[in-house]
Amino acid sequence: MSTQIFRNLRVENAEHLSDITVTDGVITAITPAGPVAGSAASPAGTGSRDGAGSPAPVSGTPVSGTTAQPSHAPAATVRDFGGRLALPPIVESHVHLDTTMTEGDPHPNESGTLFEGIEIWSQRKAKLTVEDVKERAMRAIRQQVRFGIQYIRSHVDINDPNLTALRALLELREELRDRVTLQLVAFPQEGIESYPHGRELLRTAAELGVDAIGAIPHYEFTREYSVSSLNYAVGLAQEFNLLMDVHCDEIDDGASRGLETLATRAYEAGIGEKVTASHTTAMHSYNNAYFIRLLRLLKMSGINFVSNPMVNTHLQGRTDTYPKRRGVTRVKELTEAGINVSFGQDDIVDPWNPLGTGSLRDVTLIGLYVTQMMGASQIDHSYRFITHNGARTLHLPDYGIKVGNPANFIVLGAQSWREALAFHAPVLASYRRGELLFESTEPERAWHL
Ligand SMILES: [Zn+2]
Repeated sequence: MSTQIFRNLRVENAEHLSDITVTDGVITAITPAGPVAGSAASPAGTGSRDGAGSPAPVSGTPVSGTTAQPSHAPAATVRDFGGRLALPPIVESHVHLDTTMTEGDPHPNESGTLFEGIEIWSQRKAKLTVEDVKERAMRAIRQQVRFGIQYIRSHVDINDPNLTALRALLELREELRDRVTLQLVAFPQEGIESYPHGRELLRTAAELGVDAIGAIPHYEFTREYSVSSLNYAVGLAQEFNLLMDVHCDEIDDGASRGLETLATRAYEAGIGEKVTASHTTAMHSYNNAYFIRLLRLLKMSGINFVSNPMVNTHLQGRTDTYPKRRGVTRVKELTEAGINVSFGQDDIVDPWNPLGTGSLRDVTLIGLYVTQMMGASQIDHSYRFITHNGARTLHLPDYGIKVGNPANFIVLGAQSWREALAFHAPVLASYRRGELLFESTEPERAWHL
């Protein structure tokens, strides 16, 4: 039996500090912190604003008196975090690990549109090998882990007769199983009805073991194809008992209404909580009368939403002169209606986002600005877009810093989420079942002014 004690953590913005006790990788106690060690716990406002000093190093010193242990038990290891913020691991609820790190190959996306990106990717796709996909995906995953991510939902383009990217990411899902949770969505980038053998490819992906079924109604040739593609995708998800995540209405066309079809099918089948509508940028352009009518259905259906505010701010509004639409879905209105919304990065260094880094802190920051969710409580709660809300979309079991759950959590170089957002706090440690998945130190800084 091994015991670890993580001391002086501010769990999810709590006013008070806690100690987390972990036994064999499981959280067994969360207790009020004992006396704060060292100078690291200087009250807010007296230390530097970009961090509270350096955390105490890991100590092998046995703890006496704080834990009741049999005398023959090995000593607990202790790490003191001096008042820093602990969060459950960050959840990436929408990314494309097959396209990552391909920016500029075969050429850059000069128009900055979604559709030029799809054309470029279609050319790059012809050159895929399993090794190529795995090597690039691992580079992206290392970036994501660096930013505290432990759960990743990746869409995988299945409009490929060989399903090369899918085979590669299925292998990687298994290889990473104990360290990073990878959830794969069969994503028909060029359509289900509008691509040769689209239905068969989607079915084969389901048979190969994807976690979720996708669709792309706004890209299908006709309104009829849009509806029938969603009907087929919902039927397949039910047949294989899979989750669903649809690239839904990612276009500035207010007449793109795949969402009402998806939500209706989910409602009628009673599977809303397993269904996600990603992007829904057309909702930005819906007239309010239609949106208010739609909102009733969305609430009844119980489906989840993923917004990708960084990438959609970049891709949408490209056909406008001025006024120029922002093209991000109505995150504030959906959230206020009690509907689950999470944030995703979407793309990391690929034809749709040359500057993606994997950091969902950056995505959240942009998301708050572009959706005008800058009220104090909106800022303070915004970490939920990339933690609890994403976990709900992904249907993650045992998520959160709670007794009885696996000891999965991250520690940031800040005392609050607001400070982490404002001052770009690094992730200092990421624990998976109590074991370090990633760690870094706060940078040494000196001002000469
Ligand atoms: Zn996407």
